[in-house]
Amino acid sequence: MQAAEIPDTMQAMVMERPQTPLVLKTVPTPVPGTEQVLIKVIACGICRTDLHILDGELTSPVLPLIPGHEVIGEVVLTGTSVKKIQTGDIVGIPWLAHTCGHCKFCSQGQENLCEHALFTGYTVNGGYAEYILAWEDFCIAIPPIYANSGGAPLLCAGLIGYRCLHLLPEHAINIGIYGFGAAAHIITQIAKYQFKSIYAFTRPQDGKGEMFAMDIGAVWAGSSLEAPPIKLDAAIIFAPDGSLVPIALSHLDKGGAVICGGIHMSDIPGFTYESLWQERMIRSVANLTREDGKRLFEIAPKVPVTTTVHYFSLAQANEALTALRTGQLTGAAVLVM
Ligand SMILES: [Zn+2]
Ligand SMILES: [Zn+2]
Repeated sequence: MQAAEIPDTMQAMVMERPQTPLVLKTVPTPVPGTEQVLIKVIACGICRTDLHILDGELTSPVLPLIPGHEVIGEVVLTGTSVKKIQTGDIVGIPWLAHTCGHCKFCSQGQENLCEHALFTGYTVNGGYAEYILAWEDFCIAIPPIYANSGGAPLLCAGLIGYRCLHLLPEHAINIGIYGFGAAAHIITQIAKYQFKSIYAFTRPQDGKGEMFAMDIGAVWAGSSLEAPPIKLDAAIIFAPDGSLVPIALSHLDKGGAVICGGIHMSDIPGFTYESLWQERMIRSVANLTREDGKRLFEIAPKVPVTTTVHYFSLAQANEALTALRTGQLTGAAVLVM
């Protein structure tokens, strides 16, 4: 596409204030800075983090905001200093939009914790739009099998899920997952490929969710109020419910870990030291690094990971968010432009 073919304005779903629906607006098409590229959005996945932003539980959005951080798109214009990416390339844009490169955390290989990080669809505009800007160095190369709308959920559900899996103790074989949504359905496939066993915990009375988990490859599925048939080596919690932390901890074997994969969670109730004793641990996973992106897109085509996706148009973003909120979806919701 020549620059002349790029329209001056675009359609976008815009967050004006917390706790109000998104508004479909015509806004100026952004212009890339020297190190940025302009991307025509093919699809943008919907993440639970988007709900936390819209609900005001994450308190620092730059308003008015275009949400969305699971973007697959085609590069249509490049800034003057861009060298590695060309127009026509299909790239992915994740939550991590930019880091400073020189703070304590960037210097020690923890750019996910950068003091000055920018986040797509939170502190810079995201992919609920026809076009989006991204920094060249933070675009993720997408293998051909994911260069389409079905690849969108890998850009956050996949990335954060894989980071959680990757940070488990090395010996962990029997792994519980609380909250069987978009992230869980991706990493269950990867865990199975790695000869690990997934125990899926769903909302009480969610027979459909249990069946979905078994279809995807879990070895056991049940309600989060049930005990698994064996002690678990680890548990990953994607549901934003802090009461699940002591429950998951109570099902861990010695040396096991509970990983909290969400960006926001309700308060965690108290628990006895005895339940943590024997080198059990609890940790959170925050954001992602570019290395996580490389690792995920190396392993996903080998599995190969497939995504279960429910498609919505850009204008249907509010409906898609409601479907996610009320637990109506098995798999992931994706906006297609
Ligand atoms: Zn996300
Ligand atoms: Zn930094």
